[in-house]
Amino acid sequence: MKLVKMLSVSLVILLLAACSNTSKGEADDGKLQIVATYSIIADMTRNITGDKAEVYSMVPIGTDPHMYDPLPADTGKVSGADLILYNGLNLETGKGWFQDLLQVTKKTEAAFAVSEEVTPMYLTEKGKESQVDPHAWLHLQNAIKYVDVITARVVEQDPENKQYYLDNQTAYVKELTELDQYAKEAVNKIPQEKRVLVTSEGAFKYFSKAYGFESAFIWEINTDSQGTPEQMNRIIGIIKDKQIPALFLETSVNPKTMETISRETGVPVHSKIFTDSLAKEGEDGDTYLKMMKWNIDKVIEGLSKG
Ligand SMILES: [Zn+2]
Repeated sequence: MKLVKMLSVSLVILLLAACSNTSKGEADDGKLQIVATYSIIADMTRNITGDKAEVYSMVPIGTDPHMYDPLPADTGKVSGADLILYNGLNLETGKGWFQDLLQVTKKTEAAFAVSEEVTPMYLTEKGKESQVDPHAWLHLQNAIKYVDVITARVVEQDPENKQYYLDNQTAYVKELTELDQYAKEAVNKIPQEKRVLVTSEGAFKYFSKAYGFESAFIWEINTDSQGTPEQMNRIIGIIKDKQIPALFLETSVNPKTMETISRETGVPVHSKIFTDSLAKEGEDGDTYLKMMKWNIDKVIEGLSKG
């Protein structure tokens, strides 16, 4: 009898916990509930929504959105979301974790790829030429396309505040355009033959095309075998041939391989660089605009040496 009573008490506690969990994911304060798959899209979205939406960023800062295991909290947020924004172009969808999550939560129809207006670029490695490269956001003109899509989707969900969102969009696009201009001018400080950007993952294809660099890398995309002897030898050859003065290390990859390349070639890792994640709040690079400014300045500083 006692045992039955104890069991029923714990059952009630469990049920209460379950109920409060569910209501957390829903629009209990009346605000639009938005989930972004990773920090960069979340930041762009917050620039549009201001305080009129709750924007939840799923993949933690400093980790890789190509591969991710959603937590129960993520599932709760996705279940209660009015709008789910993801990059697309094979980023969260390359290994399938995101589609699985949408299926489990039955939220496929609430999810939109913010890259839908971007002209995709493709991988260059033999046998992979039909796969799109996800890192379109590293080109500021593409970021403007992302922001246009985000704004349209937010307005669709909350037409009453349309003018507020459009005003935010105008102000944000102005800042993005100015930084794009800044990058195009700043690159002229580096001699043409020095404009080779060496990173671990080949994430700078769109960036390099936009700002006149050549993109070199150890491996072309995260989720592939990373840092094989062939890949290491290839990049070491490029660094020596082109007398590259500086290497760059992304904050969202394991640093070991690039550190080995640096030791082998004697070329220093000039700086950390942001590709698939913002910096932690309060640190350099904790917004999309700041991470792009950091990347541009550090790349130019590093490649101007020697
Ligand atoms: Zn990546």
